[in-house]
Amino acid sequence: MPALNSGLAQGDGYTIVERASLAGRNTFRVPARAELLIDVRKPAALAELFGYAALKTQPLLVLGEGSNVLFTRDWPGVVLSIAARGIAVPEDRGDAARVRVEAGENWNDFVRWSLAHGFAGLENLVLIPGTVGAAPIQNIGAYGIEVRQFIAAVEAWDRREARLVRLDNADCAFGYRDSRFKRERERYVVTAVEFELPRERALRLDYAGVREELAALGIDEPTPSNVAEAVARLRTRKLPDPAVIGNAGSFFKNPIVAAGLAERLRREHPQLQAWPTEDGGAKLSAAWLIESLGFKGAREGDAGVSERHALVLVNHGSASGAELWALAERIRGRVRECYDVVLEAEPLIV
Ligand SMILES: Cc1cc2nc3c(=O)[nH]c(=O)nc-3n(C[C@H](O)[C@H](O)[C@H](O)COP(=O)(O)OP(=O)(O)OC[C@H]3O[C@@H](n4cnc5c(N)ncnc54)[C@H](O)[C@@H]3O)c2cc1C
Repeated sequence: MPALNSGLAQGDGYTIVERASLAGRNTFRVPARAELLIDVRKPAALAELFGYAALKTQPLLVLGEGSNVLFTRDWPGVVLSIAARGIAVPEDRGDAARVRVEAGENWNDFVRWSLAHGFAGLENLVLIPGTVGAAPIQNIGAYGIEVRQFIAAVEAWDRREARLVRLDNADCAFGYRDSRFKRERERYVVTAVEFELPRERALRLDYAGVREELAALGIDEPTPSNVAEAVARLRTRKLPDPAVIGNAGSFFKNPIVAAGLAERLRREHPQLQAWPTEDGGAKLSAAWLIESLGFKGAREGDAGVSERHALVLVNHGSASGAELWALAERIRGRVRECYDVVLEAEPLIV
């Protein structure tokens, strides 16, 4: 590895900083440090970097924009961030195209790019924070759409094979807020994502007020851009903005439970929202479970639950990651006690 001069080193396509602060690199804005922080601008540099002893022996964390991570402590090894940018269209068949996007592009900028270039499909996923490289990790989703529906392939550095690999959609093992990359976090560093984007597609309007928002905008025959505008307005109203108050969006996944438990809970609590899953179980509204126990707007020091949305934990100022995690654990404990349901955190907890 190049020698660090005053804690800093540069190579072809990357920069290394020693004992780097991560406070500005996570949307909870909690303090944390990395032993080494490496920003990679050219994925070709990964072959060189993974040859160095530090990257072979120290724990590795890949970080995008930090909008789905909670640091409860410093990272005792290497934090790697893929900063490569670029959007290319390697194949355009008229009705649809292949679009290849480097991992460091901002997700929302890419959604806007796709709409401006006449593509359909990503409009419901507008305004989700983060990078394109992180989108396949938890198979981001919103308003009835998941990104896996548009991913043709993912390119990644495979640490086991020590080479760049290309995984087709079927190899990515996508699930609800899940993928092979999430389950094998130590193995893959996503460097680019290839999308298959149609120019025309039936719009998904039947979810969480999209149709009503379009009606309020006076639009009866919406285009994908109109849907994006409606979703953006809904999100802006419902979700706290991380630029104003630290948060990582939904902190808990909607729990999937067996049909029997779902039926009992629905009998006892008719207001509880539940959606059937393919395997006969049910996905429950985590927000309802949390709100019903009085946590919405709750606060312990600077760690709190958003007043706008019971699923969103917020940092009112100087909460540490450990304090936010303690609050999350308290919520999980109460939900388990009262409903016999185990909530799982959506962000990566460090
Ligand atoms: C206000 C708000 C609203 C949100 N709304 C939604 C929503 O509607 N739907 C949704 O699905 N999510 C939502 N999220 C969560 C978040 O935006 C997504 O998970 C996003 O994809 C995270 O991107 P990131 O670049 O910030 O990733 P990070 O938070 O930096 O990382 C997330 C995970 O991906 C891994 N990772 C990141 N980049 C790479 C890479 N190149 N290669 C391998 N692993 C990588 C990290 O190790 C980590 O495990 C929201 C977050 C916020 C703050």
